[in-house]
Amino acid sequence: MSSTTKLPVAGALAVRDEASRLIRHHRRGLGLVIALYIGSAVAGLAGPLLLGELVDALSAGTTRGFVALVSLAMLGFLIVQSVLRRYAVRSGMVFGERVFAELREDFMRDMTALPLSTVEKAGTGDLVARTTNDIEAVSHTVRFGVPQVVVSVVTIVLTLGVAVLTSPVLSLALLVGLPLLWAVTRWYLGRSARGYMRERETYAVVNGTITETIEGARTVDALGLGALRREELDRALTGSFRAERYTLWLRSVLFPAADIAFWLPAAAVLLWGGWLAGQGIVTPGAVATVALFAVRLIDPVDLLIMWTDEIQVGAASLARIVGIKDVEPDRTATTAEPVNEDIVVAGASYAYREGHNVLHGVDLTLVRGERLAVVGPSGAGKSTLGRLIAGIHPPTSGSVTVGGVPLVDRPLDELRREVALVTQEHHVFVGSVSDNVRLGRADAPDAEIEDALRSVGALDWVEQLPEGAGTEVGSGAHELTPAQAQELALARLILADPHTLVLDEATSLIDPQAARDLERSLNAVLEGRTVIAIAHRLHTAHDADRVAVVEEGRIVELGSHEELIILDGAYASLWNSWRSE
Ligand code: ADP
Repeated sequence: MSSTTKLPVAGALAVRDEASRLIRHHRRGLGLVIALYIGSAVAGLAGPLLLGELVDALSAGTTRGFVALVSLAMLGFLIVQSVLRRYAVRSGMVFGERVFAELREDFMRDMTALPLSTVEKAGTGDLVARTTNDIEAVSHTVRFGVPQVVVSVVTIVLTLGVAVLTSPVLSLALLVGLPLLWAVTRWYLGRSARGYMRERETYAVVNGTITETIEGARTVDALGLGALRREELDRALTGSFRAERYTLWLRSVLFPAADIAFWLPAAAVLLWGGWLAGQGIVTPGAVATVALFAVRLIDPVDLLIMWTDEIQVGAASLARIVGIKDVEPDRTATTAEPVNEDIVVAGASYAYREGHNVLHGVDLTLVRGERLAVVGPSGAGKSTLGRLIAGIHPPTSGSVTVGGVPLVDRPLDELRREVALVTQEHHVFVGSVSDNVRLGRADAPDAEIEDALRSVGALDWVEQLPEGAGTEVGSGAHELTPAQAQELALARLILADPHTLVLDEATSLIDPQAARDLERSLNAVLEGRTVIAIAHRLHTAHDADRVAVVEEGRIVELGSHEELIILDGAYASLWNSWRSE
């Protein structure tokens, strides 16, 4: 599967809206952080001011007592500053965590609600990159960036303010670095957003290439595609390397220029202040104070610029995270209730790509409790039909209804209790065996879970596990065999209790012995339900109530095994060739 349709990325406006919504939502927390930082910055300003006093007092002649008093006062303010800062940092972290937690929960909610068809079209790489790299980048920005920017802005504003109060004419020297700083920052910001956005995109491509190769490892191996995949990965990595080189170049211009701009004011204050003091316009104490302020401005301005940079990265990631919200839902649930449990497919067509129908006006009525086998050549559209019947995709035209209500109009959690799709892919979630089964119905009591495990024949091996049904399974914990994983999935189905099941080659991946065991488990699950079995082995068709032969997106034959044999058409020849194998 290639990444043909990318997931959307939010525009600048939407990102700003989301950021200000988050800030508004947490404004009390942010208010506390700002208040504490202001307190700490104010206490920090006392040092240079007192030092200035000391310098002037010394040049005028003073007592030891005064010197000791001023020194003690400086120490006192330093302690106050440190204590306030400690709480400011702490509340800043708490603020960051809260905002980030909300962001992540929103993202998880939006992401798990994405239409499956969108996820499939976009490929997994993009989504994986958004859940990992992008979330991490945003987390970094929110946890550290927002508090740091707050400190810097507060410190810069206060320091400049007090410097101007101390001596307006001397403070002019603080501004000499500004033109350079302004020019280089502007140059940088004009390029960085796009640069970082591209960098993020290349990460998604690298991720996608790696995941696809790993997921398709067997195919790659079987078809000897190793070299091709390596080339593909090399290309992705080269793209990523170029994108990183570009942003590195941007930084390598920004940082040195900014450094020069930082130290210019300190030097200027000393030169300009020296001259002014010589003229008797300012006191040497004032020069000492403002020079110290100039030095003190370096860190916050530096932090601010560094974070402007990082915030660009964060914003690029946020745009990709918020972009998930822009995916149109492929369905809207209505309150219409099905009048019975019959599934009716009427004139249903489906196209994965516009204008390329893979199903053409399929009609099919399934009566509650009936077993239908769907057979036909590979690529005929059997799985697609199964997915329409399971309500995974809405038909492009025509309708697929349960009890008169289109399947895609049913709220998802109710739909899953009506129709379920069983495929050969079974994911074991990290958690206990019970947790895995309980995904079928969240409020199921332990006794029901045990019953479900028993009816699929899994209770024996589950009880052999170190902690029975409480044993942790899934990646990193106890590994289950594919057959066991499949049994858990079936037990899940028993809990969910849908009246209709679509089986898509549910038993074709495992070895024949295990498959036979599983078929027994499966029969327990199928009991009393409507079953649409997309069949590989024709004996499934033989045992079914009716057989539908699908060819090129159409049902070409429909009837019982006997009827179709008598008809002597496509099914009869399939059957004969299968029997003579
Ligand atoms: P079958 O189950 O009979 O083998 P499918 O329903 O899987 O057939 O496929 C029917 C057609 O739809 C094929 O031509 C296949 O290439 C195409 N198709 C299947 N899945 C997708 C997809 N996710 N995106 C685009 N085309 C697809």
